[in-house]
Amino acid sequence: MTVTTPRTETAAETSAAPSVEFDGRIRNGRLDPGVIRRDFPMLTVESHGRPLVYLDSAATSLRPQVVLDAMDGYYREYSANVHRGIYEIGERATAEYEAAREAVARFINAPDAHEVVFTRNATEAINLVAYSWGRRNIGRGDAIVLTEMEHHANLVPWQLLVQEKDGDLEFIPITDDGLLRQDVFEVLLRLKPKLVAFTHVSNTLGTINPVAEMTAAAHAAGALVLVDGAQAVPHIPVDVQAIGCDFYAFSGHKMLAPAGSGALWARRELLEAMPPFLAGGEMIREVHLRRSTFNEIPTKFEAGTPDIGAAIGLGAAAEYLRALGMDRVHEHERELVSYAFAALDREHGSVVTYGPRDPEVRSGVIPFTIPGVHPHDVAQVLDASGLAVRAGHHCTMPLHERLDVPATARASFNVYTTTADIDALIAGIGEVKRIFGE
Ligand code: PLP
Repeated sequence: MTVTTPRTETAAETSAAPSVEFDGRIRNGRLDPGVIRRDFPMLTVESHGRPLVYLDSAATSLRPQVVLDAMDGYYREYSANVHRGIYEIGERATAEYEAAREAVARFINAPDAHEVVFTRNATEAINLVAYSWGRRNIGRGDAIVLTEMEHHANLVPWQLLVQEKDGDLEFIPITDDGLLRQDVFEVLLRLKPKLVAFTHVSNTLGTINPVAEMTAAAHAAGALVLVDGAQAVPHIPVDVQAIGCDFYAFSGHKMLAPAGSGALWARRELLEAMPPFLAGGEMIREVHLRRSTFNEIPTKFEAGTPDIGAAIGLGAAAEYLRALGMDRVHEHERELVSYAFAALDREHGSVVTYGPRDPEVRSGVIPFTIPGVHPHDVAQVLDASGLAVRAGHHCTMPLHERLDVPATARASFNVYTTTADIDALIAGIGEVKRIFGE
């Protein structure tokens, strides 16, 4: 079945009708997190008897009521399979699912919603490219260029591919302040790689990479470009046409949407030329006992029953963020990052932070270590005060090797984060130092 464009009003359209002030969430052109926080039921939860201070949005974000309502609406009112039932609720499910795809396409400025493939998460989106495009296009001696700051999701699939195909991986190193070494990238491009794959925003360093410039350079050298957008879509405006890349992968659960939702955007001609990734129902056109033909894109890549409720939730999240305005979201996080660095420097000069200090190339992720205290102990003491931060290698073990630390603690922000949350973190770090000594 081909994708239908719904004409009825859908959950994605009604969830957050954009208005200048968006019902008070925007004040004088800036986000008002005090108002925005009321959208997030999780922020009324207590942790260890204290109000929850959630500073782990880079691991997964909280979800606003409109997203919960969109999912709930699917399960309560039209809980049918998609692209199958020719009865009213089945048609509504299909319409809402495809409207969610349209909302995601609008959110990243994709030229055509048919180029948006729903996946479970960024990991699955990258694996889809590695298995489908990669196995057909990478051969013996072919190079793939990655970076030292990649999440394991944009590293391990390529390791498996080059091991199988006898290809090579090359890595763009980072500078001491967490930027990609563009001079080395230029040299690596002389190897004529088939693919360059890099993260838009580092989940560990917070670095915002110059993806449009890097894409142009890679294309000039004849490579295709995959951008891992998992940490970009929640925090900065993303326009895949302006970036000019070939593949853009991201997860829903970091951008206020349910876990189990995500997407791969790719240029139409690439998707059309790529063989299926998973096979079974829905992705086929005709099946005979010994051969089959395949559906049009994007359905060719959506075998089996998808997570319909999660996709509808993703559409609602994309519309909610669009109504807030991603420029405003970015500005809000820039202010939080500057506030946090100033407070850390003032109150806790001994705390070591990683990644660039320039707020122009930095998103709302701050990894830190306290000399002499293991990051797990830091997280545990903070937890006792109701603060949730992540400690560990954040799925970037090679990057931690480069930084020469086994682990870091990481505080990360989102639209609902306030300066009061950062004040709580600063006080919590004071408590860690009091317990463990300076
Ligand atoms: N890429 C980056 C930069 C990430 O931060 C993450 C998750 O933390 C992923 C990929 C993988 O996301 P998921 O686990 O949702 O597939």
